[in-house]
Amino acid sequence: MTDFKRPANPQEFEENFEQLHPIMNATQAHYESSRCLFCHDAPCINACPTEIDIPLFIRQINTNNLSGAAKTIYESNWLGNICGKVCPTEVLCEGACVYNHQEVKPIEIGRLQSYASSVAINRNKHLFEKALDNGKKVAVVGAGPAGISAACELALLGCMVTVYEAKELPSGLALYGVAPYKILNDTVLEEVEYLQKQFGFHIKYQHPLQAAEDFEQLDRAFDAVFLGIGLGSTRELQLEGESLDGCWGAVEFIEMLKTLQHKAMVGKKVVVLGGGNTAMDAASEACRLGAEQVVLAYRRSKDEMRAYEFEYELAKSVGAVGLWNVTPLAILGEEKVVGVLFIETRTIDKKLETIPGSDYTIDCDMVIKATGQNKQKALVQLIPGIQTDPSGRILTVNDLGQTHNARYFTGGDAMNGGKEVVNAVAEAKVAARGIHQYLTENQG
Ligand SMILES: Cc1cc2nc3c(=O)[nH]c(=O)nc-3n(C[C@H](O)[C@H](O)[C@H](O)COP(=O)(O)OP(=O)(O)OC[C@H]3O[C@@H](n4cnc5c(N)ncnc54)[C@H](O)[C@@H]3O)c2cc1C
Ligand code: SF4
Repeated sequence: MTDFKRPANPQEFEENFEQLHPIMNATQAHYESSRCLFCHDAPCINACPTEIDIPLFIRQINTNNLSGAAKTIYESNWLGNICGKVCPTEVLCEGACVYNHQEVKPIEIGRLQSYASSVAINRNKHLFEKALDNGKKVAVVGAGPAGISAACELALLGCMVTVYEAKELPSGLALYGVAPYKILNDTVLEEVEYLQKQFGFHIKYQHPLQAAEDFEQLDRAFDAVFLGIGLGSTRELQLEGESLDGCWGAVEFIEMLKTLQHKAMVGKKVVVLGGGNTAMDAASEACRLGAEQVVLAYRRSKDEMRAYEFEYELAKSVGAVGLWNVTPLAILGEEKVVGVLFIETRTIDKKLETIPGSDYTIDCDMVIKATGQNKQKALVQLIPGIQTDPSGRILTVNDLGQTHNARYFTGGDAMNGGKEVVNAVAEAKVAARGIHQYLTENQG
C-alpha cells in the first residue's frame, strides 16, 4: 500500500509532490556556506560536468556577494538554478565533497547554487554583456537544456540566434520529464525567461523541423546549426498487449503528469517495468498520484539496476515495491490492461535466461514501460552528411560537437544517448564555442 491520497486540487498535488530541495532562506544559505572549507584542489569542481568554481561561489554567498555568486555559476552553467535542483548531486559535486571522508554531511552545494541563481532571477540581475554583433546567424533546433545553453553561449559570443522548438514551451525534458518533487514547472520556465531577456534570442514555438526541406531552408538562412533535439518516445518492447488502454510509455506518462498535474490519471494497481532512474521516477510519481499499489519490476537483480541507489530509496520510501529477476511475457487484457504475465529469470555465465515453468500473473490496471527512449534517427537522416552510430546517436568528428556535416554541431541527449541535464548544458556550451570558432575560421 502507498501512503498518498489521490490529489484533488493543485494544493494537494503540491503536498504530495513536496519539494525535495526547497529554496534556502538567507540565514540557511549563510550558515551552510560558512561550513565550506574552500578546499584548494576542490574535488567538487572536478565532479561537476560544467566545472563550476564551487568554492568561489560559496565564498561569494558567504560574503553576501550574491550577484558575484550567480555570475560564477552562470559563467559555467547557463541553467544554474535548474541544475541546482535536478542534478544528481549525491553522485556528482556533493558526492565528491571532502566532508564525506569525515562522516560529516557534505555541503549542500545544489541548494546553495539554486539559492544564488534564484536571487539573480527574482531580481532580474543583468550579469552579462553580449559581444558586438558578429554578423553570424545560427539556428538552434530544440529548446531543451542543450538548445538553451547553446543559445545563451552563442548570443554571448555575438551571434544572432533563432531557436526552433516543436512544443509550446521551452526546456525539453527539464520541464516535461523531471519529477515534480525535484522542481516546479514555474521555476524551470522562469530561468529560461530570465536568460532570454538577458540574451535576446528568439524561440519559435510549435515549430518542429520534420522534412528535408526544413533543413534546406535552415541552410539557406543560417551560417551554422546546433542540433539539441534530444531523444524520442519510449522504446517499444514488442510485447503482446502493448497497445492496450492503460499501457503507457514512461516518458509519455510523465509528460501527461507534468502537464495535467492533479488531473493526471493513474491506475489503482500499477506495474512499472524497468530498473533505471526513469522507472524509479515513474514509480514514485504513481504512488504520489494516489495509486494503491505500485510494483517496480526489473528483469535482473536489485544490484544490477542502473538507477542510482538514492532514486530507488526514494521510490521505496513512498510505497513502491521492488520485484527482481522477472521479465514480462505479455500485457494482458481485452481492451484495457488487467495484468502482466511475468516469467522469472536467472543469470548463468553473465547471460540472462528465463526459468521454464516459472510464469505467473500480476493483476494491474496500469503498466508503465520505463524501457528507454528511441533515438531521433529518422529525423537526423534528413540532414545530408550527418552520421549516427547503429543505435541512432549523432556522431561527432571532434570534441567540439561538430558532426560529419561541418555546419552542424550537436550536444545533449541526441549525442550522448541520454544522460543528465548538466551534461546537456556542458556539451552545448562547448559546441557553441565550436560553432563560433568554425564561423571565425571560415569567414567568407
Ligand atoms: C523521465 C525523465 C526524468 C529525468 N530526470 C532527470 C533529473 O532528475 N535530473 C537530470 O539531470 N536529468 C534528468 N533527466 C534527463 C534530462 O532531462 C535530459 O538529459 C536533458 O533534458 C537532455 O537535454 P536535451 O536538450 O539534450 O534534450 P531534451 O530535454 O529532450 O530537449 C530536446 C528539445 O528538442 C525539441 N525537439 C525535438 N525534435 C525537434 C524537432 N524536430 N524540431 C524542433 N524541436 C525539436 C523537443 O521538443 C525538446 O524541447 C530525465 C529524463 C527523463 C526522460
Ligand atoms: S569539497 Fe566540500 S568543503 Fe571542499 S570546497 Fe567543495 S564543497 Fe567546499
